[in-house]
Amino acid sequence: MCQICDDLHETIRIEHPYQYYSIVEQIKTMMQEGILFLIQGNCDFSLIERDMPFLNDVPCHVFMCKSCECKFELCVETFHGSGGRWEVIHE
Ligand SMILES: [Zn+2]
Repeated sequence: MCQICDDLHETIRIEHPYQYYSIVEQIKTMMQEGILFLIQGNCDFSLIERDMPFLNDVPCHVFMCKSCECKFELCVETFHGSGGRWEVIHE
């Protein structure tokens, strides 16, 4: 954990698709700024956009902070609408 990713260490429970898209947009910005980078995923993260069909029933992606190498996971269950979460991966 470092100052750059300090704000990302809070677990966020995702209950609505708009929450998911809002997090996706924030992550995309952070990726452009070089703060986070994608290390794992089961569908193309760059293609996840509002009003687009989901590419996977359970899109799941792992990101890493470029500065301290902390890992974060963003998973959401789209099919049954049971939601998802943004959380730190503790190893
Ligand atoms: Zn960090």
